[in-house]
This record gives sequence, structure tokens and C-alpha cells, in this order.
Amino acid sequence: MMAGSFQTVASMAAALLFILALAGLSRQKTAKQGNYLGMVGMAVAIGATTALALAQSPAPWMAAALLAAALAVGAVAGIAKARRVQMIAMPQLVALLHCFVGAAAVLVGFDSFLLQPGGWFEGRMNVYHLGEVGLAVFIGGVTFTGSIVANLKLSGRLSGKPLVLPGRNLLNVLMLAAYVALVVPFGMSVGAAAGLPYLIAIAVLSFVLGAHLVLAIGGGDMPVVVSLLNSLSGWAAAMAGFTLGNDLLIVTGALVGSSGAYLSYIMCKGMNRSLTAVLLGGFGEGSAPSASTAGAASGAPDSGASYRETTADEVAHLLKDSKSVVIAPGYGMAVAQAQFPVAELAKRLRSRGVDVRFAIHPVAGRMPGHMNVLLAEAKVPYDSVFEMDEVNDDFPAVDTVLVVGANDTVNPSAETDPASPIAGMPVLRVWEAANVVVLKRSMGNAGYAGVGNPLFSNGNTAMLLGDAKQSIEAVNAAL
Ligand code: NDP
Repeated sequence: MMAGSFQTVASMAAALLFILALAGLSRQKTAKQGNYLGMVGMAVAIGATTALALAQSPAPWMAAALLAAALAVGAVAGIAKARRVQMIAMPQLVALLHCFVGAAAVLVGFDSFLLQPGGWFEGRMNVYHLGEVGLAVFIGGVTFTGSIVANLKLSGRLSGKPLVLPGRNLLNVLMLAAYVALVVPFGMSVGAAAGLPYLIAIAVLSFVLGAHLVLAIGGGDMPVVVSLLNSLSGWAAAMAGFTLGNDLLIVTGALVGSSGAYLSYIMCKGMNRSLTAVLLGGFGEGSAPSASTAGAASGAPDSGASYRETTADEVAHLLKDSKSVVIAPGYGMAVAQAQFPVAELAKRLRSRGVDVRFAIHPVAGRMPGHMNVLLAEAKVPYDSVFEMDEVNDDFPAVDTVLVVGANDTVNPSAETDPASPIAGMPVLRVWEAANVVVLKRSMGNAGYAGVGNPLFSNGNTAMLLGDAKQSIEAVNAAL
């Protein structure tokens, strides 16, 4: 009784802290505070779960030793990884963390099934509980392998190109149908021995489906996949909560699941794509190469086009003489770790009376909010950071746009070339400004979607080639 009310109070406190954490994370100004609240909530959750497990265990010392060992392994691995990870590798790390949630849901499902009351042959779990176990293992399995494939794609160990098997959508539908055909007899089964083959088959099926789903999504659709896997990991945790009868896990999982689903909606909107279109394919695949994309296959989409090169000195003069400057950061800023000199540049220009704003595309970088995190790290003032929709109509009145390692998100062919694989994706209309300076290392590499960018050959565009950090430091020195 005591333990029950203790668990309820602790669960409510932790759930409340998680909700407050999410509220804090929704604004850059309060994000740090949100993180702290989340950490306190997690500490409460771990503390309460541990205390309860010890109170209810017939062998508390054994339970304590096992829990301590599990916590130590997790903490050592987590701290070591978090210390070493570079900002540029964050997206693949996030994908990896989702895979752990999926694996945990699968293991919890199997554990809850194998330990059913009544033993291996006679035990009868109720149909409802068996249904929960089947669903937890299925969602967990899809999240597990889907996240592993996403991790491999984001880290470049697997090609970002979609792997499209013939009859791909039919295959997915057949796998869903097979899941239903397996979960029904599983729900009816009596005893672990009878149900186990079905559960193993469900797990294998979900592993194949997860890998197939993410392998088939390519190019610029990866942002949606990352947020979708985030959502799925939440639902997997919620399902594990149902099988364990743990309210906190259900609440937390539902919070992650629904916020991830909303994030997927935002990412879809940012790319002007419907979720169905992403899942059923089409983006970054299939469409005939257009004039602007023809070079993509060769890996050097822009190297043949004419362009004008500039120098750090010239850029410093241009910026100094501008009244209004917009900085459009992209993945290259993360690669170069150029956020610190960029923040310094903005500060210097502002001290000279130049109006400096940052324009953030929703899918810039390699994970949702990537650019916001980098700019916050460099202590860029929040009120100078604007979402795409807030600045996109202002470009005609801007004197100079500095494109720092962005490519797909400033590609005009998304608006002008219906045959382009990124056609229809809203982009930052930087070309409407009086002057555009693009920072990238060479003319040989495309952006993530692998398509050429006609912005680089525009009359008002100048290319500042080289590592973005070094280039911006040179501009700062010249200023
Ligand atoms: P892109 O990936 O389109 O382009 C990156 C640019 O940075 C390239 O021009 C590259 O050129 C340049 N670059 C790379 N390293 C450096 C460096 N050290 N110094 C200077 N420049 C450098 O970036 P965007 O941010 O514009 O677009 C993001 C893309 O990633 C979109 O297609 C989006 O769909 C996709 N994506 C986004 C995810 C998200 O959640 N945000 C997740 C997965 C994919 P060069 O190599 O010549 O230097």
C-alpha cells in the first residue's frame, strides 16, 4: 500500500517535471531550464523505480547489485559517449539512442511474456495483455532496426540514396498484414511454449520492416525519418509501460511519441511534403535529372558552372558597407564548427550599427533544431534568430546575405525547376538580396540531396571558398 502510493506520487512528480521540461525546451530562452527540469524528473523516476524494486524484491541485495551494475554500465557508456561526441555527430547519436528505446521495448515485451503466471504450458495471460506485448515488440522492433539504418545513413556508413525494391509499398503492406496474421493467434495462445514462435516471428518481421522502411527513404526526406523515429521510440516506450503496468513510462512515452509526431508534422511542412508522400517515397529518387541536377550523379554538380570567387577582404568591405545583413547557416557551419567566429562576426557588425539577423530553415543541418543548438552554444542573442517564414519576405530589402555552409536550403531550383528532386521544398530566398556570399569548401560537392545549385552562378553571388571557420576568421581579421 505504502509502496503503491509512493510510486503514484513519484510518478506524478516525474511526469509533471517532464511536461515542464518540454514546455521549457519549446523556447530557446528557457531551453536550458527545461533540460534541468528533465534531468531532475529522470532522477526522480530512476530513484523511485529503484526504491520500489528493492522494496518488492524477495532478494533485495541481489536486486541492488544487479541494478547498480546496470546503472553503472549505462552511466559509464553514456558519459563516455556524450563527452566524445562532436556536434556534427549529434544526429547519428540521437538515432542510436532511439534504437536503444526500441530494443528495450522488445526485451520488456519478451520478458513480460516469458514470465507469465502459470508457467510455460498452462499459463493463460489475458488477450489484452498479449496484444500489448505483441504491439510493444512490433513497434520496438521497427524502431530498433529503423534507427540503426538511420544512424548508418546519417554517419555516411550507408549511402543516403533510397534503396527501392520492386513493389516496395506492397511489401510494406504485406508485412503489416503478416503482423496481424501473427498477433491474432498469439493473443489466443495458451502458455509461453505455444506463443513463443509467434512472438519471435513478430520480432523478426518488425526488424525487417523497420530496416526496409528507412532504407527506402532517401535524400532530403531524412529529417522526417529522424523525427518519426523519435516519435516511434516514444510509442515503443509507452507500450513497454503498458506491459510493465508502469504509469510513468506510459506518460513519458506518450509525451515523446506525440511531440515527435508534431515535430514530424513541422518537418513535413518545412519541406512541403505530406507524411504519406515521405513514407511512400518519391523524394530524392526517380525524377529525371534536370539541367541543374544533371551533374549530381558525377558527384560534382556545380564544378562546371561559371561562378565568381571573392576574398575575405572583399567580404569584410561588403559587410561593413551594408545596413542589413542576414546570415543563413547550414550543415557546413556544423562541420566547420564555425558558429563561434560567426557569432563574433555578428557582434562586430552590430557594434558598427549593422542590422544582423540569422535565418533558420526548418531542415537546415542534420537534425531538427541543429542550427538553433549551434547558435545557442555560441551565445548568439535569441532575438536575432528568425525562422524561415519570419524572414523570407524581407530578402529584397537585405544588402548582404552570408550563406555559411548551407546549400539545399537556399537552392532556387526548388522553386524554379519542377523536375528537381527538391522541387516544392520551401527555401530561403536569399537570391533576392542585393548581394549573396556563399561559403563552402569547393565547387565539387553538392548538399545532402545531391543536386546542383544555380544560386552559385547568379550575378549577385560571390563564392568564398574554403573551410567556413577559417573563412569567417579571416573576414573577422579583415574587419
Ligand atoms: P547541405 O547539406 O545541403 O549542404 C552543406 C553545405 O556545407 C555544402 O555546400 C558543403 O559544401 C558545405 N560544407 C561542408 N563542410 C564545410 C566546411 N567545413 N566549411 C564550409 N562549408 C562546408 O546543408 P543545408 O543545411 O542547407 O541542408 C540540409 C540538408 O540535410 C537538407 O537537404 C535536409 O533535408 C537534409 N537533412 C536534414 C536533417 C534535419 O533533421 N535537419 C536530417 C537529415 C538530412 P562543401 O562540401 O563543398 O564544403
